[in-house]
Amino acid sequence: MKKMKKISIIMLAALTAFSMAAFSACGSSVMHSADSSSAEPSTVARTDDGGYSCDVFAMDTTMNIKAYGGSKAKQAVADAAQKIYELDSELSVVRKTSSVYKLNNRETDTVDGSTADVLSESLRLAGATGGAFDPTIYPIVRAWGFTTGKYKVPSDSEIAELLTHVGYDKVSIDTGADGVAKVTFSDDKTELDTGAIGKGYASQVIHDLFRDEGIDSAIATLGGNVMTVGSKQDGSSWTVAVEDPKNTDDYAGYITLNDEFAVTSGGYQRYFDQNGKRYIHIMDPSTGHPVDNDLSSVTIISKSGTEADALSTALYVMGLKKAEDFWRTSDMDFGIILIDTDGKKYVSEDIADRFSVDSGSFETIKKQA
Ligand code: AMP
Ligand code: MG
Repeated sequence: MKKMKKISIIMLAALTAFSMAAFSACGSSVMHSADSSSAEPSTVARTDDGGYSCDVFAMDTTMNIKAYGGSKAKQAVADAAQKIYELDSELSVVRKTSSVYKLNNRETDTVDGSTADVLSESLRLAGATGGAFDPTIYPIVRAWGFTTGKYKVPSDSEIAELLTHVGYDKVSIDTGADGVAKVTFSDDKTELDTGAIGKGYASQVIHDLFRDEGIDSAIATLGGNVMTVGSKQDGSSWTVAVEDPKNTDDYAGYITLNDEFAVTSGGYQRYFDQNGKRYIHIMDPSTGHPVDNDLSSVTIISKSGTEADALSTALYVMGLKKAEDFWRTSDMDFGIILIDTDGKKYVSEDIADRFSVDSGSFETIKKQA
């Protein structure tokens, strides 16, 4: 099914929200806090289906947050937008005031709050994925130009040198009872980046914020991360489309969600071409090169936004067979939708009955191979 048609059926009113009349400021506090001099306040718009919606640009991507439930939904959307800006300011690798920037530049060795939380989760998930997801890959990502858009293919010797500083085992984090965490690097040049987990973490944070504020129906898209709170207002599940990696104007399939997260990692989302070869933004930490395997997208369905985001990146790095095996043996609870480079779809059996396609078929991944 073509995207525009689908959008009118299931997609969040977000995409049409700004053509409607009733705007009100999200709240004067909803500013891009680190750059407040130049920031535009986000606006919360009333949607034609009785919700409140806000568009946000943060973490280098466009986001939309939408909630239902009268005036408390309006306030909750404003609060969620504010929270995302705060997290962006804390976790950014490029803003000199961010906690992660200060850690990377050895201006501090302690962090707290969300930064401590997301870094602990990053190290846990790096271990759980055998380093396929590795928050210390940043110097490699930067060398290929993905942080600036000035893309280049680094020399083998540059990659080899940078790789000596990569490895999640070079970082430890020790969180005290007061929530303050001491971060220790065993290598002077090791740096951290939350690019593969930050949006998922942020989606988890706003999910919990909505629950705390008494919202039981909300949906948000943070780049390739979708968060749902509860169900739609009529009690039916949310339907989320999975992009076709070969043709992003089209959808590969649909998954229904209820109080869950769906996160997609795909080589098609960010890449550059040089001398007839494609280089994507997801790196294989074992080689220092962009992943070039048999997958073109990985979607994780989970009750944890943080796990969903880290795992989408990790399983992409693993490739089809290892990703399937990881799902079979992991003690984490999640479903997977894999699309290989031939466009073939593979869906884990735990979620297969709520996945659908417009045409063609998909293979079910069984727990017992
Ligand atoms: P995602 O879109 O969630 O798969 O995250 C991809 C982003 O995370 C990239 O743009 C890089 O900034 C960073 N990244 C790339 N490869 C890895 C990796 N293997 N582990 C952790 N972060 C990565
Ligand atoms: Mg990710």
